[in-house]
Amino acid sequence: MSHNHIQKIVIVGGGTAGWMAAAALAKFLSPVTKIELVESDQIGTVGVGEATIPQILRFNGMLGLDEADFMRECRATFKLGIEFNNWGHIGESYLHTFGHIGAPINHLDFHHYWLRARQEYDLKSNLWDYSIHHKAAYKNRFAHVPRVGNTSISGLSYAYHFNSGLYGQYLRRYAETLGVKRTEGKVNDVRLDPETGHIQSVTLESGAELSGDFFIDCSGFRALLIGQALGVKYLDWSQWLPMNRAFAVASEKDGPLLPYTKATAHDAGWQWRIPLQNRTGNGHVFASDFVEEDAARATLLDNLDAKPIGEPRLLKFTTGRRETFWHKNCLALGLSSGFMEPLESTSIHLIQANISKFIELFPNRAFSDANTQEYNRLIIKEFDLIRDFLILHYHRTDRTDTEFWNYVRTMDVPDSLKAKMDMFAETALIYKDPDDLFGQASWLQVMAGQGLVPQNFHARASLLGEAQLNELLGNVERIIDQAVEKVGSHQDYIDAYCSAAD
Ligand code: FAD
Repeated sequence: MSHNHIQKIVIVGGGTAGWMAAAALAKFLSPVTKIELVESDQIGTVGVGEATIPQILRFNGMLGLDEADFMRECRATFKLGIEFNNWGHIGESYLHTFGHIGAPINHLDFHHYWLRARQEYDLKSNLWDYSIHHKAAYKNRFAHVPRVGNTSISGLSYAYHFNSGLYGQYLRRYAETLGVKRTEGKVNDVRLDPETGHIQSVTLESGAELSGDFFIDCSGFRALLIGQALGVKYLDWSQWLPMNRAFAVASEKDGPLLPYTKATAHDAGWQWRIPLQNRTGNGHVFASDFVEEDAARATLLDNLDAKPIGEPRLLKFTTGRRETFWHKNCLALGLSSGFMEPLESTSIHLIQANISKFIELFPNRAFSDANTQEYNRLIIKEFDLIRDFLILHYHRTDRTDTEFWNYVRTMDVPDSLKAKMDMFAETALIYKDPDDLFGQASWLQVMAGQGLVPQNFHARASLLGEAQLNELLGNVERIIDQAVEKVGSHQDYIDAYCSAAD
């Protein structure tokens, strides 16, 4: 064994981030590298984070988890997208689905043909009439459908809603089986090497000292290592993403099991509704500069579909990110690394993406700056691209009814976002940065859903004759309808595939 290998990693924190890190590191590095995780039962976890995006399938797949078993244990349901209500306009809704709209024709994105038919032939159909996700979601249907027959239309890509506490426990069992050592206790001191500034050890309240070669800060908003001990600055993005509070409460299961999250805009924020097998997760994310806490709490309770289970819990945060995510011998993961608010369920994705990049760029004890710099470059870019996508939801609105909506509608936004919106408005083109988590289909649905309708379409869409164009559009719609007819209800699918005993 090379003496230069990292011998031991200490993870501080046992929330979703901590246990995801422990499971992945154990799978790929144990037993060459020993993993120890310390968590404090007294402090507990943030207790939210129940909606994911399809990339979670990759993470679970990488660990080799059995989907039905994981879903049963975590009371998970399937998620085909997010329904946005009252965002662009009060009374309007759209679904940001995890799929494409139609399928490219002659290598040109489908929406250009749709735009042409609307502009030239007065086509009445909606963009989402060509989305299998949309049609399945609004009929409360789900099944594993990888492709639509033998066409080029992709099937149902999906993510999960799950109980985050149960997911943490599930990964804990997995990690402990692979040799991860768990220590319960509260870290109350961090010792740094006076010469290098690297972390040498963390000391627990009991006096026990845990030393390691590398430390992962999964301590949540406290950011014990990266922030408090190493002093890496936090970049505040409140000027673009002014949400800084959330009230969260579960409610009793009610009505049909929806295969999507709901995000309903309110006067100074929005409310999530996340359906699990046995209950519904709800929360009102709001900007305290624009609404009082008592009013925000009342809004949440007034807009629940069913009886709350317990009292709403208040969570406070500042949107933004760390200036760097890997500093010296410490990596920040999860909430200690930054938080951009839960609107598009990107936090858990960032945890998994960052763990994967860390494993790719895994250092040795020489701690080359090259690894650290490359990691930081990649993650900074990923955060910044997601930030733009989130700002879009607030900024592209016709709402003028409250101070909050007037602020976000008229605020200055990053040039990168402005360029993207301008290009789409003028040409219907969507430039995708290769590192952007959100692809063309996502940008299209959110820009169009928020009310940004392009003036033009690509010249290549005019290469088809009118009859051919109408036939093609009609065929896509028909094929999708037929495919959805073959899919049964989400609830029946869960019952047969992964229903939890309770
Ligand atoms: P935490 O869960 O806070 O865990 C921190 C851990 O550190 C705990 O184990 C704690 O005990 C430990 N700890 C802290 N201090 C000490 C100490 N001194 N000594 C020992 N241990 C210590 N993400 C999504 O992807 N989808 C969503 O739908 C979503 N919704 C969200 C809604 C809200 C309102 C918020 C605030 C976040 C949401 N997130 C969501 C983000 C998601 O919850 C987090 O990314 C995820 O839970 C990871 O949190 P964490 O593990 O970093 O922190």
